[in-house]
Parts: sequence; C-alpha cells; structure tokens
Amino acid sequence: MALMKRFQGKVAIITASTQGIGFGIAERLGLEGASVVISSRKQKNVDEAVEKLKVRGIDALGIVCHVSNAQQRKNLIDKTIERYGKIDVIVSNAAVNPSVDNILDSQESVLDKLWEINVKASILLLKDASPHLEKGSSVVFISSIAAYQPQSSMAMYGVTKTALLGLTKALANEMAPDTRVNTVAPGFVPTHFADYITKDASVRKRLEETTLLNRLGTTEDMAAATAFLASDDASYITGETLVVAGGLPSRL
Ligand code: NAP
Repeated sequence: MALMKRFQGKVAIITASTQGIGFGIAERLGLEGASVVISSRKQKNVDEAVEKLKVRGIDALGIVCHVSNAQQRKNLIDKTIERYGKIDVIVSNAAVNPSVDNILDSQESVLDKLWEINVKASILLLKDASPHLEKGSSVVFISSIAAYQPQSSMAMYGVTKTALLGLTKALANEMAPDTRVNTVAPGFVPTHFADYITKDASVRKRLEETTLLNRLGTTEDMAAATAFLASDDASYITGETLVVAGGLPSRL
C-alpha cells in the first residue's frame, strides 16, 4: 500500500520507541515523511532501531531517554531542537506494569513507579517540550483498553491509563488552540510488554475470541491510528481518545 506523506517536513518525538508499538509509530510517521526522534533506556536498542529505520529510508535521530530521568528528558528535547529546530508531534508511549498484585496488595514503591512512568513523566516531558511546540502541533498519549475495564492482573496499571484520558481532556484545554492533544487506547498487541498475556496459546486464543474481529491488534494498527490523530486529517479533533481494540468493550 502506498502511504500518504502527511508528515513531510515535520519533526516527531516518540518515547519508548525502540520496539513494539512505539517503534511501529516511529516507522509509520517516518514513512509518511517525518524526521523521527526515537528513544528508550538502552543505547544498544536505540542504535539498532535507528539502523532499522534508516534502512527504510527514514530520517531518524536516536537518543537514550529513560522517561523518568529529568536530565535525559531535557537532553531529548535539547538534541531534537539542536538538530531540527522545532517539534511538531510528540507521542508519549512509555509505560510499565511492574506487578500483577491487586491494588490493595501493591507495595507503595510499585504505586509510585506506575504514577511516575505512566503519568508524571508524560507531563514533565511536555513541560520541557511545550516552548518548542509549533502552531498546529499535536500530542498523542498511548493509553490502553484497560483504562476502561481494568482487569485484575493490570488493575492499577489500568487506573494510570484512565488518568491519561483525563489528562488528554485537561491538556487539550490548556494547550489549545496551537496544540491538539489526543489519545490512542490499544487493545491487546503481542509485543514484549504483553508477553505475559499473549505468549500462552490458549490465553491468546481466548483473547482473540473476545474481540469482535477475532484477532489481536498489530503495531501497525496502533501506528495507523496514531498517525491519523497526529496528522492534519484530525485537525478538528482534540481532547479525544480513539479506542483501537477490535471491538473490545470500552464505552458508549
Ligand atoms: P514493548 O514492545 O515492550 O516496548 C517497550 C519499549 O519501551 C521498548 O522500546 C523499551 O526499550 C522502552 N522502554 C521501556 N521502559 C522505558 C522507560 N522507562 N523509558 C523509556 N523507554 C522505555 O511495549 P509495547 O507493548 O509496545 O507498549 C507500548 C505502550 O503501549 C505502553 O504505553 C503500553 O502501556 C501500551 N499498550 C500496550 C498494549 C499491548 O497489548 N502491547 C496494550 C495497550 C496499551 P528499552 O528496554 O531500551 O528501554
């Protein structure tokens, strides 16, 4: 399929983007013409991902950034501005689910980590980035179907993802009219992150059957939705969440 070139001349930062959904988003935006700034915690992963993108003809800059490290977040923005002079798109994709404990059995340190990485780091990154965001720019958060129906193995993780839905509304208001803020809420996608759910063949089959479309999601599905929201095709959409979950129950 020939892709449109909606991001020609645009600069996009995608966090946690050396594999999985983040990498898929970087690849999609890059193939549509964006210069993409990718990042994750490990230099080796960053280098390998940049190489893969370059092979596809994409202009990619790779920077190590653990999203809860203030210095590394600042460096991510500074290096982007040094190289490209502006930011058009930020996709905030990093998240953890460090425990399958019930909420009331969770250690305080686990609750702190969930808040810190899944919510607070997204806000702090935008704080650093906001002076550089162009008129017509766009922010996309990656939430989850678990934001609507937090299952027990991911209950508190789900609540942090619910918080992103509120953050989307609040920041859409705060950053208007120059910057639009939207969210993608993925269903189940067989990535490293979801291994503990999707690796087991029988669990995977059960999950597939709970969707209306009889399959798990792909990183390309998530990338397509993110690209839409980040692009001018969505220029009258802000403060919204697009559920990309094969029909899994979300909300009316
Ligand atoms: P993934 O395939 O496991 O990829 C995770 C990426 O994040 C890697 O590039 C990893 O690289 C990087 N990373 C991990 N911790 C980081 C941190 N603290 N700071 C910066 N980078 C970090 O995960 P994924 O499934 O694509 O998940 C991406 C997003 O989708 C998350 O927000 C997740 O909640 C959401 N989501 C996923 C699913 C699903 O079924 N997969 C469903 C709903 C929502 P390094 O190891 O080098 O840091």
